[in-house]
Amino acid sequence: MTSTPKGLQTTNSILGKVMEALATFIPSDVEVTRVQFEGAKIALYARKPEILLIDKPYIVPSVVNSIRKRIVVRSDPSVRRSEADAERLIRSILPKEAGITNIVFDPTLGEVVIEAKNVGLAVGKDGSNLNRIIQETKWIPRVLRSPQISSRTITQVRQVLYSESKERERFLRSLGEAIFRPLTFEGNEVITRFLGGFREVGRSCILVETRESKVMLDCGINPGASRFPEMFPRLDIDELDLSDLDAVVVSHGHLDHCGAIPFLYKYGYDGPIYCSEPTLPIMTLVQLDFLDVMTKNGYIPPYDQKDVRSMIVHTIPIRYGYVVDIAPDIKLTLWNAGHILGSSIVHLHIGEGLFNIVYTGDFKYGKTMLFEPAHASFPRAESLIIESTYGAPKDLMAPRTEVEASFVNIVNSCVEKGGKVLIPTPAIGRAQEILMVVNEYMESGKLEKIPVYIEGMVNEATGIHTAYPEYLSRDIRDKILHENVNPFKSEWFIVVNDASDREEALAPNRPAIIIATSGMMEGGPVIEYFKNLCEDPRNTLLFVSYQVEGTLGRKLKNGLKEVTLPDEYGKMQLYQVKMEVLSIEGFSGHSDRRQLLRYVGGMKPKPRRVVVCHGEESKAINLASTINRMLKIEASSPINLEALRFI
Ligand SMILES: [Zn+2]
Repeated sequence: MTSTPKGLQTTNSILGKVMEALATFIPSDVEVTRVQFEGAKIALYARKPEILLIDKPYIVPSVVNSIRKRIVVRSDPSVRRSEADAERLIRSILPKEAGITNIVFDPTLGEVVIEAKNVGLAVGKDGSNLNRIIQETKWIPRVLRSPQISSRTITQVRQVLYSESKERERFLRSLGEAIFRPLTFEGNEVITRFLGGFREVGRSCILVETRESKVMLDCGINPGASRFPEMFPRLDIDELDLSDLDAVVVSHGHLDHCGAIPFLYKYGYDGPIYCSEPTLPIMTLVQLDFLDVMTKNGYIPPYDQKDVRSMIVHTIPIRYGYVVDIAPDIKLTLWNAGHILGSSIVHLHIGEGLFNIVYTGDFKYGKTMLFEPAHASFPRAESLIIESTYGAPKDLMAPRTEVEASFVNIVNSCVEKGGKVLIPTPAIGRAQEILMVVNEYMESGKLEKIPVYIEGMVNEATGIHTAYPEYLSRDIRDKILHENVNPFKSEWFIVVNDASDREEALAPNRPAIIIATSGMMEGGPVIEYFKNLCEDPRNTLLFVSYQVEGTLGRKLKNGLKEVTLPDEYGKMQLYQVKMEVLSIEGFSGHSDRRQLLRYVGGMKPKPRRVVVCHGEESKAINLASTINRMLKIEASSPINLEALRFI
């Protein structure tokens, strides 16, 4: 027997359709009490959710099929056991061997998150344990893997989400109303405005406009900017009103792509951020570190922790490959970009088959230890916006085996001299790749077995990697999931947490590898190490990642021999650079010139129009003209503030 849930009414036409479908498909003994938007999903609250979740699991898919919207089933608060009772029951249901490390309740959504060391044992055969939890407690369980290296940032993000869960529910409900609002404007118009990161590396930002909606892709800062206004994208244009921006999509958690996001909240944006699951903790980590570094360098940061918190509350993490409605006429899908953990190629589908944009963000079209190559095939794609960090004809990287061999040589010859190797890395990405290489070559005996000091923030970022094995390359994922091996752990690694650890790392006449942030030497502990090590010619400074123009890293790479830096009392001191300064490009998380061209040429379907971004002026121009000439695809390298009407 079916009937319309009693007392349910709505003026929204989508919710109206859902109600009709419910009346047709859902038996009345489910006792639906509430139906509401939860972002682009529909949440269905019921007194007997177990009927839909366990007894008759085929019902919800048929409703989804008829309304073509995702549905989540939630329990009505009145039927849930108290949190204390529920926790006791859960602990009695799950076997000891599951290794529960944490149980957290989210009363707004009626979910209980169980962190366990062994997810398979916690879930039970065919989900039997989870079903029992639903039946006995009426809380809906979600089991997450406890990270092998615990991450403070992940805990912090979860705490914000739980403590602000009422606010988040309100936000998700109004977001749903906005996404599924009736279309005011029909019409075929797709315009992109380039607000930052064009013919430059840094402050990436693009605005995509249709007559109905506005979506921003990335909003980063320029870490090499010498003047404050040049640090930010051009958010001051008339066409941008933060209050009518529908969504912001973040391709990945590097500062030059996400560093200005909290700034949007400070100035009135209160809409959603879409990104992959690991990107949320990663961007939180790098933004908080950015605030810290700015304050320590005596600057007033452009936003504060409160704005980072607002960003967390408004972020909607999505998995690779899921299609999500983000505006009445725009659908978003994220795909692996192979650049850093959670980095995404952004696919926007506009209108019903009207137009498609692929934005690569930063991407690697080649296999690395950590990631599979970037995704290159899409259901439809008329246009491509592609990075060009290594877009010049000379930007060819040696094969990976050669790159690793030269890394081993550099370290071994420095050790022979009795020196230390200082490697500046961004916390996320290159650091983990280098750790894996170091461990592998030390184990095989090719690399001298010396202590490897890892600064705390790098270790924190590594912890985030172990929490999201699904986003790593197949081999590493298998190590974590099936062999329960932590691939980032090694007997030679020492995590530096305080001044005495740092002293140990700097102890004279003891060869060591030191991995420290920031990657472009714009602050962070790497500066302290550098000041201590730079005047001894036995030491080596080894760059393994891209150095943006204007940064200290870039200047040193270009041969700067004298550096003025503040000493421990803040007094400026002159340092002579006598240490060897070397650079290896092949570990880069970016595609080299060959990979960039191979990506454009091999992308499916072939794009009709290419826009080149994220590269120094000459590289962006050169890559665009090569794409024109060699691949016969219309390509351009616009400058900031230019706009392009696709259709
Ligand atoms: Zn990046």
